[in-house]
Amino acid sequence: MNASVPLSLPLVNSSLRTDRGDASARLVDTFGRVHNNLRISVTDRCNLRCVYCMPEEVTFIDRRELLTFEEIATFVRVAAPLGINKIRLTGGEPLMRRDLHKLVALLREIPGIHDLGLTTNGLLLAEQASVLYAAGLRRLNISLDTLDPHRFRQITRRDGLQATIDGLFEARRLGFRPIKVNAVAVRGLIEHDLIPLAVFCREYGFEFRLIEYMPIGAEPWERDKVFFAHEIIEKLEREIAPLVPAPDYDPRAPAMEFDYADGRGRVGLIASVSRPFCQRCNRLRLTADGKLRHCLFALEETDLKPLLRPVCEASVLAEAIRRTVWSKWEGHEINTARFVKPSRTMHAIGG
Ligand code: SAM
Ligand code: SF4
Repeated sequence: MNASVPLSLPLVNSSLRTDRGDASARLVDTFGRVHNNLRISVTDRCNLRCVYCMPEEVTFIDRRELLTFEEIATFVRVAAPLGINKIRLTGGEPLMRRDLHKLVALLREIPGIHDLGLTTNGLLLAEQASVLYAAGLRRLNISLDTLDPHRFRQITRRDGLQATIDGLFEARRLGFRPIKVNAVAVRGLIEHDLIPLAVFCREYGFEFRLIEYMPIGAEPWERDKVFFAHEIIEKLEREIAPLVPAPDYDPRAPAMEFDYADGRGRVGLIASVSRPFCQRCNRLRLTADGKLRHCLFALEETDLKPLLRPVCEASVLAEAIRRTVWSKWEGHEINTARFVKPSRTMHAIGG
């Protein structure tokens, strides 16, 4: 490792350049899947305690172990020439990381990154939306499982519905687009809120996204606890309006997208349990403490912090990224008896 070559220098190794159409530069795994999508967790801390995501009591990562914004940007400067062009910031609650807009501004400047989004619970959004917008962020996913304050407390173990709603409308007022409202489809929870949330999203122009409940939280998970995508479609069609596949729907994307036939809104379904998209998966994840994961459910991770602190030669980091992608398994085995739950829960990996 050569600590004297800063990673922020332009990469000189032509094998790392994708703009020349060099296929060997891409992040391909042994199943031929090409990776362009990176989810970056900026913190494992959260101001909620959603029952499907994390336990009530948690020991958080020591702040000194979190990657700095410059370290994250360094990673992205090396990953972008390998084909990473789409980034989502997440957590924990990403808006709990101080000055997140500064990271947004750093990432926006990196050539090749043309899609940058944020997933947030929205509690701190009203106060941060304008600086995030000024830094260049446009795409937002805001998690909201209910419009009822009592049920909000039941699901998140905290209060905060009004703050989330305020954040949602402030983002809409400022011009963030698209704004998607994410809810987790847990049987016994989502049925009560599905229709009110769907009506709300239609009314105000938010895309409604439902994510099948996955075995990555602290609670014991069973398949029976998932409210499946096909059940959601049936309920929405029965109680609101027929759904038709969205015309610009990309069948390789994780979300199945539908438009209401009356033209008033869009619904996305992430059916990770009933229709796993592993065969088409193009995602990598960087945890807040600098571990690279090839899958949300991966049982192994590559510790990149020693390559970022102190900064190493770009080619060494690029090779570590490539090796992680190459080691990617065929897919999670949620639906089999072989499934093993990762030791970290969702909040500590990055959703
Ligand atoms: N705190 C932010 C938020 O809630 O939007 C970002 C992190 S959160 C872990 C990212 C997404 O993961 C959220 O949309 C959340 O609803 C989803 N999620 C958490 N636990 C889940 C689970 N067990 N199954 C499916 N989705 C889950
Ligand atoms: Fe926090 Fe998001 Fe997990 Fe809820 S889903 S506990 S808001 S990280």
